[in-house]
Amino acid sequence: MVADLELQESRNVKVGNLDVRRALPRRQHRTVGAWCFADHFGPEQVAPGRGADIGPHPHMGLQTVTWIITGELTHFDSLGSDQLLVPGQLNLMSAGRGVSHSEESTRQYEGTIHGIQLWIAQPDVTRFDAAAFEHHAELPMLDLADTTATVLLGEFGAVASTARRDSDLLGVELVIRSDVVVPTRSDYEYCLIVLEGTIEVGEIVASPGQSVYVPTGREEIRVRARDNARVMVLGGVPFDSDIVMWWNFVARSRDEIDDAVASWSSDDGRFGRVASSLARIDSPLPAWQPASHKSLPR
Ligand code: MN
Repeated sequence: MVADLELQESRNVKVGNLDVRRALPRRQHRTVGAWCFADHFGPEQVAPGRGADIGPHPHMGLQTVTWIITGELTHFDSLGSDQLLVPGQLNLMSAGRGVSHSEESTRQYEGTIHGIQLWIAQPDVTRFDAAAFEHHAELPMLDLADTTATVLLGEFGAVASTARRDSDLLGVELVIRSDVVVPTRSDYEYCLIVLEGTIEVGEIVASPGQSVYVPTGREEIRVRARDNARVMVLGGVPFDSDIVMWWNFVARSRDEIDDAVASWSSDDGRFGRVASSLARIDSPLPAWQPASHKSLPR
């Protein structure tokens, strides 16, 4: 007995200047494999002074995966990285115990920006490691009849990405011109996030702002594109730890989050420094913390 597919509605949120459709996390599915966060941004016009700029902010316990369809972004981080990202390339940052970064468009780019930012929860074996950054200028591609697959992370068909993976997962972008049978692993669950066009999966019809959750137990997924469609397929073995996700941090307890907030707020060096002209983003106060005396008038 194979469980049913589910249509998921993304949540509309604002991140910096950009309108974002947040596909993950969902109440029903906090994670898909180790994938714990998915923000589909644009297509939107950006220009100097009104860019897709996110100033320096910290991360821990997760990997950031940045993928753009149109436009360009520059990634700066506390490891000293200064990396331009253009369509077809992958930026992958592993936060481990702490890193900070900014993503900027203002200085060099005017035009349309469209893409997706994803986070992957790191397992216990790597989440306390030192931070790392990878840029992949070329990724393996695979043709499936009328579909082109670009493999960001993991193995798909006969090809595999060399990008770092801390758990058993897959990230692949499909550009589908008609119908495709997507080979799947029965021990993986999947989320198909529609970036462009409209797809049909079984009885489900999904467009940008929607995604299709596919539970474990399937050997393939049949996807029909009504028009040319672009889909980000995230998959993985269901994540075996209960995560606590708050602001830019992924942890296992509120105490770990409290420590990270304190480190970022006091700038104690744990998250390093980013060489950026943008303002550092302050941490909000976790909802579970009583308002501290510092916030009261003196
Ligand atoms: Mn970030």
